[in-house]
Amino acid sequence: MTASGRRHLVLLGGGHAHLAVLAALARTPLPDWDVTLVSAAPHLTYSGMVPGLLAGRYRLEDCRIALPPLAQAAGIRWLPGRCTGIDAAQRRLTLAQSVTTVLDYDLLSIDTGGVMEPDALEARMPGAAAHALPARPIDALAEGWSHELARMRRRAQASGSGPSVAVIGGGAAGIELVFAARQGLLQAGMAGARLSLLTGGGPVAPGYPAGVRRQVERQLQRQGITLLPSACTGIDADQVHMGTAGSLVCDLALIATGSMAPSWLSGSGLDRGPQGHVAINRFLQSTSHPEVFAAGDVADRADHRYPRSGVHAVRAGPALALNLRRAASGQALQPHWPPQHTLNLLSCGTGHAVASYGVFCAGGGWVWGWKDRIDRGFMQRHRKPGGARTA
Ligand SMILES: Cc1cc2nc3c(=O)[nH]c(=O)nc-3n(C[C@H](O)[C@H](O)[C@H](O)COP(=O)(O)OP(=O)(O)OC[C@H]3O[C@@H](n4cnc5c(N)ncnc54)[C@H](O)[C@@H]3O)c2cc1C
Repeated sequence: MTASGRRHLVLLGGGHAHLAVLAALARTPLPDWDVTLVSAAPHLTYSGMVPGLLAGRYRLEDCRIALPPLAQAAGIRWLPGRCTGIDAAQRRLTLAQSVTTVLDYDLLSIDTGGVMEPDALEARMPGAAAHALPARPIDALAEGWSHELARMRRRAQASGSGPSVAVIGGGAAGIELVFAARQGLLQAGMAGARLSLLTGGGPVAPGYPAGVRRQVERQLQRQGITLLPSACTGIDADQVHMGTAGSLVCDLALIATGSMAPSWLSGSGLDRGPQGHVAINRFLQSTSHPEVFAAGDVADRADHRYPRSGVHAVRAGPALALNLRRAASGQALQPHWPPQHTLNLLSCGTGHAVASYGVFCAGGGWVWGWKDRIDRGFMQRHRKPGGARTA
């Protein structure tokens, strides 16, 4: 309860699923509840457009949705802060702001996304914390790229040879980033760049249909990007090490090996999935604490496995909004069934993308144009207060 004696709903994290919750609140406020949106950043950076940012196609502001105007339109409080712990028994959050503060809740919804913890990266790839640019936090990637471009330009001018970039991780994010990095270097006038994609030992685009893999391999070859089926075992200032496969000279290592659950969940008392995410049921509700809900990459649905992606986080939003409202008024919750297939669009640099839906796939310039329109439409819709789709 808040000082006013009203009950308190905390939306923790300004992630993709919470956009629908904010839109639903803007349309219909929650009577008798105070609502607070807590987020580490005053914006949501839309990852779908970040590769285009690296490629020089979009500006940083094109990729961001400001959260305070959405909170204002929803009539709720916006509180900047990074959650560092949850005490589910006490229904309390700890936030690191300029000072550490605590926030009590009656109902909590978590949508803080996945993380790449520097300690965990360092344990797997010694040197990563000091010498690599990880894909998460996405803000650090988006902001760090322009510094890296400037640094590589200085090095290239001093050495007289083109820069070398290694992207570690052969999944969707790694694929998009390696194509984008190549294009960004060209756009910045750095010819002769050498790009490599390390897949960790397996094929590129694991989990995608064979047709997608073939199209991605063809594009990698066409654009002169070296595909290395090796795992990174360490990184230093100018090399990526690959165990017995040797080392690769590189000016920049980008890590896109997938996100993890945040370590601050470990002492929360919430049930967690096998990899430490918040375990949720079909109502997007914690399996241990009914007053806690979670969606997006931070959550793990025990009864129904599906890949972590922005698409799934967005799709969970309307169901989350509905169930928070129902939980707040003591009504029965409704199950959320994620779609079996979603449309996946992999951009291979500006001008070419590969689309897949289940086993179907297609590639070409028109797919890239389609993705660009979808992404810009998403931004336009979600920047508008009340614009996100709700149930
Ligand atoms: C380079 C790249 C490209 C991608 N492209 C695509 C794509 O094209 N399509 C797709 O479907 N998926 C894509 N993904 C995956 C996608 O980014 C994630 O699946 C998606 O962001 C998950 O959404 P989310 O709502 O769980 O969290 P996020 O979008 O990560 O949002 C989390 C929010 O919580 C805030 N936050 C984080 N930690 C805290 C904290 N401790 N306290 C308070 N607030 C916090 C953040 O500031 C942020 O606002 C891509 C990923 C990467 C890295």
